[in-house]
Amino acid sequence: MAKQEDVFKTIVAHAKEYGFVFQSSEIYDGLSAVYDYGQNGVELKNNIKRYWWEAMTMLNDNIVGIDSAIFMHPTIWKASGHVDAFNDPLIDNKDSKKRYRADVLIEDEIAKFDEKINKEVAKAAKRFGDSFDEAMFRQTNPRVLEHTRKRDELHTRFAKAMNDNDLADLKQIILDYEIVDPISGTRNWTDVRQFNLMFKTEMGSTADGAMEVYLRPETAQGIFVNYLNVQKTGRMRIPFGIAQIGKAFRNEIVARQFIFRMREFEQMEMQFFVRPGEELKWFDHWRQTRLRWHKALGLGDEKYRFHDHEKLAHYANAATDIEFQMPFGFKEVEGIHSRTNFDLSQHEKFSGKKIQYFDPELNESYVPYVIETSIGVDRMFLSVLCSCYEAQDLGNGDSRVVLHFPAPIAPVKCAVLPLVKKDGLPEKAREIQHRLRFDFTCQYDEKDSIGKRYRRQDAIGTPYCITVDHQTLEDNTVTLRERDSMEQSRVNVDDLQRILGDSVSLNSLLRKLV
Ligand code: ATP
Repeated sequence: MAKQEDVFKTIVAHAKEYGFVFQSSEIYDGLSAVYDYGQNGVELKNNIKRYWWEAMTMLNDNIVGIDSAIFMHPTIWKASGHVDAFNDPLIDNKDSKKRYRADVLIEDEIAKFDEKINKEVAKAAKRFGDSFDEAMFRQTNPRVLEHTRKRDELHTRFAKAMNDNDLADLKQIILDYEIVDPISGTRNWTDVRQFNLMFKTEMGSTADGAMEVYLRPETAQGIFVNYLNVQKTGRMRIPFGIAQIGKAFRNEIVARQFIFRMREFEQMEMQFFVRPGEELKWFDHWRQTRLRWHKALGLGDEKYRFHDHEKLAHYANAATDIEFQMPFGFKEVEGIHSRTNFDLSQHEKFSGKKIQYFDPELNESYVPYVIETSIGVDRMFLSVLCSCYEAQDLGNGDSRVVLHFPAPIAPVKCAVLPLVKKDGLPEKAREIQHRLRFDFTCQYDEKDSIGKRYRRQDAIGTPYCITVDHQTLEDNTVTLRERDSMEQSRVNVDDLQRILGDSVSLNSLLRKLV
């Protein structure tokens, strides 16, 4: 575990050193859980967003996009339930003065039982070799059964306390299981309190009685309140979807793990409107479709898993997370939720406007049901960064750090490098760069040795380096170096556009999805 933590620290440091992610307001000592994207980070982030946007709106006839405002009428958040229920239970340790989410402390305790069980299984698997029957072992081994019983007992009690909003029992669980503060090591806890995660601000001058408004904690409500506008003006017929990418804000109690949990972040959400009764069929469709989108990036199929929700939000009738294997364990990157007709019905009720769809095939009107796919741009960014990072030993005391980004989302697609800074090579290199820059993000670099320049490009994940040497002036060929294999081939300048285009274009990813 400690080793993984070190790897993660190294990745965070690399992200800063190479212009991917900076702490916000760093020269003022930073603002907690807020981050800025640097010159390479913004390119990677934009490419991830483009991949999602085009997969949604270009590959589906029946999905259109919108861009709604961050400020919305405050009653929207009353209708959606966020004013009353968008809370996390918090608890303070009186000695360390640190604040924690009570549910997370208990979930970590549950995970400890899982770890113990997995350790027993791994030990037995090693002992029995090929003849090991894992399912049988889990069902019969007394130690595993005892851990499982304790885990389930805690889980059931925890789920009940959460569902009943029983804050006293959440605290009692923490005391009964002797959960200590990881910093002070003590059990000197305050009571558990609810904490609303929405940021508030004021709109209009205070003299006129300013209106209290919220920074949206999710982009989805901007879609729901525009449902009628889009359906009517776009003459959309059910089933259809509305996609949106935008900022969301949550006053997270404990913000940790770099850009995994931020107070200002970005979401890519799609609400898919369907006939009542058909929602579970579409839920399954979107579960599979979204996993395919992730896997097409080629980060490793084994790094993904579904986590179906046992405890469902009051409005949902099915929910699953797509989890990705981060250096700190499998973590949620995307949620897929069957939200029934809860949101649209609530907005009907609170706005007094009819929000219904007339279904010409059924000859009846209804409030559509909704399947939501909701993914965090920043978490997606983090999963790409972590899985692509490699500190590679090249033998003979040589090493490099390389980011194996899928070429279509790499921040820089190619670098043009004159071998030396004289003899007309820089001019030729500039000419080649100028030809390529209309199609690809393309850098020019003439400083330092060619080896150092290759390393700099490896460290930001540039898939191709194009080296211009004296031979280029004679026969119009260059050396094309591929990032991962480091293989070099001689190619004609006139072929560069085609060779690069085939491998770095977003189309190559999108084509895998249809
Ligand atoms: P978590 O349980 O981790 O707090 P959540 O279940 O509240 O997440 P959703 O409300 O389903 O998350 O939001 C959808 C997606 O938005 C998440 O899958 C995640 O990728 C992203 N997201 C949510 N909260 C944050 C945050 N504080 N920072 C960065 N991304 C976030």
